[in-house]
Amino acid sequence: DAFIVKVSQAKALNAFLVETPDHAIAAATAADTARAAGETLKPLAGVPIGMKDLFCTKGVTTTAASHILEGFTPTYESTVSQNLWDAGAGMLGKLNMDQFAMGSSNETSAFGNVISPWKRNDGNGVGGNAALAPGGSSGGSSSAVAARLCPGATGTDTGGSIRQPAAFTGISGIKPTYGRCSRWGTIAFASSLDQAGPMARDVRDCAILLEAMAGFDSKDGTSLQLDVPKWEAGLSASLAGLRVGIPKEYRVDGMPEEIEALWQKGIDWLKDAGATIVEVSLPHTKYALPAYYIIAPAEASSNLARYDGVRYGIRDLPAGSGLQDMYAATRADGFGPEVKRRIMIGTYVLSAGYYDAYYTQAQKIRTLIARDFEKAWETCDVLLTPTAPSAAFALGEKSADPIAMYLNDVFTVPSSLAGLPAMSVPGGLDKQGLPLGLQIIGKPLDEQGVLNAGLAIE
Ligand code: GLN
Repeated sequence: DAFIVKVSQAKALNAFLVETPDHAIAAATAADTARAAGETLKPLAGVPIGMKDLFCTKGVTTTAASHILEGFTPTYESTVSQNLWDAGAGMLGKLNMDQFAMGSSNETSAFGNVISPWKRNDGNGVGGNAALAPGGSSGGSSSAVAARLCPGATGTDTGGSIRQPAAFTGISGIKPTYGRCSRWGTIAFASSLDQAGPMARDVRDCAILLEAMAGFDSKDGTSLQLDVPKWEAGLSASLAGLRVGIPKEYRVDGMPEEIEALWQKGIDWLKDAGATIVEVSLPHTKYALPAYYIIAPAEASSNLARYDGVRYGIRDLPAGSGLQDMYAATRADGFGPEVKRRIMIGTYVLSAGYYDAYYTQAQKIRTLIARDFEKAWETCDVLLTPTAPSAAFALGEKSADPIAMYLNDVFTVPSSLAGLPAMSVPGGLDKQGLPLGLQIIGKPLDEQGVLNAGLAIE
């Protein structure tokens, strides 16, 4: 019952930036027609999906929740969204998010905060005092699915943006292996890390959605030329023989007891499902967060160079000014503070004098982190960790302190740097009645192993 929201409350969540009921109705009508004609229904026939506003949708405003793209209407459809429509789904609307997917609380959106539909036992939450963050950057997606406004939504995950918001709102979300989902038509944040994935109520829905979203695409040079496995048909919660690794470096200082307890519960559930538990070491884990916050801004500073007032969105051209003034005015006005911070960090670490000291070092760390995981796979098949070091925090609680915000990504960025499939599933509630997530990390291309372990937990 906690999830049933009235229409007035649904609007207050601010999860949708654009509503596209006609698109969803057309898909539902097509499903009805096919059913009446006795045709075999497509896998997502008539299912209304929320699309994160990072996916370009033909004829429907797409802004990445940034003022700089206000009014931008793509003339093309992203591969991931097209794959969903080809599978019979319809679009309910475009979902709010952190601006250009930079953030962990959805507070960097140019179009207002998204509110989590959850309430704490002390009464704080949903529109009242201390409304809770839905996580980020896919905060519109997590809030909409958790509030039951749509059965599934797309997310993107560069350093945790599917998994952390899923954990904060008690839903499931999977980031597949880098290259499974085409990045074509998805607004770029950090191209070597960005991956699309589904967010839904349970593991089975995630499997069904991911099957539709994934697949080789010649328009993305990093797309994997592989068939999409039948993940839904392969689901099994029996884990006999599965070796689950517990990375000891994820026991970080100051982790709340409740997160420790949740982790232990997860271990017990997987044991009950037939798995054996092994301790593993990922020694470079502590360098993952600093490396990520060099590599991701470096790539972002390059990707965001295209927003110059010429090609997309807004243009600010003060009277009597020239081309450089137009660039400066458009970007000063168009980008939010967090995006500017990333561009500044990114251009700094890529600058001639500092490149070797920061960017090259970070890339070396990235290799060491990938090797840590490779070593771990010698003794285990999947890894189990908490998804985030805390439950949902209140809106405003961390927004003035970027470092505190970045620290919330400590458990999600290592697997992103290594390009591995990783999922968050709900693990239970804390003392305040808020959901906590458990993360399963898998070997490259082993989404099935990840989904199956998730199924055993949920
Ligand atoms: N919170 C991380 C960041 O701000 C991850 C974002 C993401 O995965 N898109 O960069």
